[in-house]
Amino acid sequence: MICDCGFMIENKEIVLCFQSPITNRQSPMIKVVTTLAERVTHSPEETVLFGREIAVHLGPPCLVLLEGDLGTGKTTLVKGIVAGLGAASEDEVSSPSFTLVHEYGSAGRVYHADLYRIEGARDLATLGLEDFSSQAATVLVEWGEKLGDNAPIPCVKIRMEHLGSDNRRILIERVEA
Ligand code: ADP
Ligand code: MG
Repeated sequence: MICDCGFMIENKEIVLCFQSPITNRQSPMIKVVTTLAERVTHSPEETVLFGREIAVHLGPPCLVLLEGDLGTGKTTLVKGIVAGLGAASEDEVSSPSFTLVHEYGSAGRVYHADLYRIEGARDLATLGLEDFSSQAATVLVEWGEKLGDNAPIPCVKIRMEHLGSDNRRILIERVEA
């Protein structure tokens, strides 16, 4: 999506997005991005605990996009979120970088995808993320930035950043149309 205009009102960022050359969306769209929380963690355990805190605020259907480089702690945070949702224990959660999607809990309540190896819209279509999103499920997507303008709205965006050593900055944003 081509976003060429953005401005902040308090903690909200209004972004005007024009028609995508890929999806051929017909009209300009306004996205409202609200910063919900920012946290710096100093260990994997602290990140897992923060994931549990985040889970309390997530109600299905909910799409959570996790963005950030390799090793920033996306999978670690997902462990806390999935455990906090009561779908599986932290140890049962692992990176779905080869299988692409993991399912936790009974009746497909939580899906965990990793788009690291996804290339192009066709690969993405095979994942069937829209099907998951249409269910009353929580869908957690690592490398969510790869969705680009295919990312459904509304969603929660979690941006993770390596601050050196064991320190990670975690920014939580809500994105609405
Ligand atoms: P990603 O999924 O983003 O590639 P992972 O969660 O798989 O990242 O890996 C993060 C790595 O960084 C793990 O080895 C973890 O032990 C380590 N780590 C060190 N400090 C932290 C922290 N504060 N939060 C999360 N992970 C951390
Ligand atoms: Mg990962």
